[in-house]
Amino acid sequence: KTARTPLMAGNWKMNLNHQEAVVLVQKLAWTLADKKHDYAKVEVVVVPPFTDLRSVQTLVDGDRLAVKYAAQDVSTQDSGAYTGEISAGMLAKLGCSYVVVGHSERREYHAETDEVVNAKAHKALAAGMTPIVCVGEGLEVRQAGEHVPYTLAQVDGSLAGFTPEQVADLVVAYEPVWAIGTGEVATPDDAQEVCAAIRSRIAETHGEAAAAGVRVLYGGSVKAANVGGIMTKADVDGCLVGGASLQVDEFGGICRFY
Ligand code: PEP
Repeated sequence: KTARTPLMAGNWKMNLNHQEAVVLVQKLAWTLADKKHDYAKVEVVVVPPFTDLRSVQTLVDGDRLAVKYAAQDVSTQDSGAYTGEISAGMLAKLGCSYVVVGHSERREYHAETDEVVNAKAHKALAAGMTPIVCVGEGLEVRQAGEHVPYTLAQVDGSLAGFTPEQVADLVVAYEPVWAIGTGEVATPDDAQEVCAAIRSRIAETHGEAAAAGVRVLYGGSVKAANVGGIMTKADVDGCLVGGASLQVDEFGGICRFY
C-alpha cells in the first residue's frame, strides 16, 4: 500500500459556476497551505464541471498550486459531428490530469454501459490523462448479496483491452450507489471487502504488478468525520467525494486524513 500515493478527488457534479469555482479552489489551496499539507503524501484533485476547467487551469497555473483537476466525463469520439460532446484532446489541452468515467449518475441517466465506459477510459488514456473508472452496485444488488460479482463484472468490462502496464497506473473508484449522496457511508469493512476483491480480480486478469499499482478508491458519503476509518483499510487508496467536496473545511479535512 505504501507505494500507492493516496488520492482524494472531489467531484463537484453540476455545481458552481466558473467564478464560484475560482473561490473554492483558492480557499482549498489556502486551507491546505495553512495546515502545511504535503501533496506528496496525498494527491488532491478537484473535478469541476467542464465550464469551470479553464478558470481552474488559469488559477492553478498562476499560483503554482499543487491541486490537480479532472473532468467529469469525456466523449468516446475524437472530433466531428457530436454536438455537446467534449473530446479527450480538448481536456488534455486544458491541463486535466484525470477524467472520471462511468460515474453511476452517467450510467443511470445516460445509460452508459461498460462498453461505453471502456471506450471513454481508452480515449482519456490515449490523450495522456488517467481515467478514474467508477464501478459499484445498487441497493437491490447489495441486498441480494451479489455486490462483489456485480462490481467485478463492471471492472472486467470497463478495463477491457488495457495492458498490465496501463492498468497499474489507472484509478478504479468503488462507489456503491446506495451510499452516493445518501449520507449512508459504507462501513470500512464493506469498502475493504469490495476494494480488495477488485484488486484480486485485477491480479487475475492483468497480473500482480498491475494489481499492486492500481489505485482503488472508495466513494459514497465520505466526510472528514468518517474518512479516517475508511483509509485504515489496506486496499483503499483514497476517496471519490461528492457533496463534501463543495465545502472547504470538509474536503480539506478529508485530504488531511493522515
Ligand atoms: C460521488 O458522486 O462520487 C459521491 C461519492 O457522492 P457523495 O460523496 O455525495 O456521496
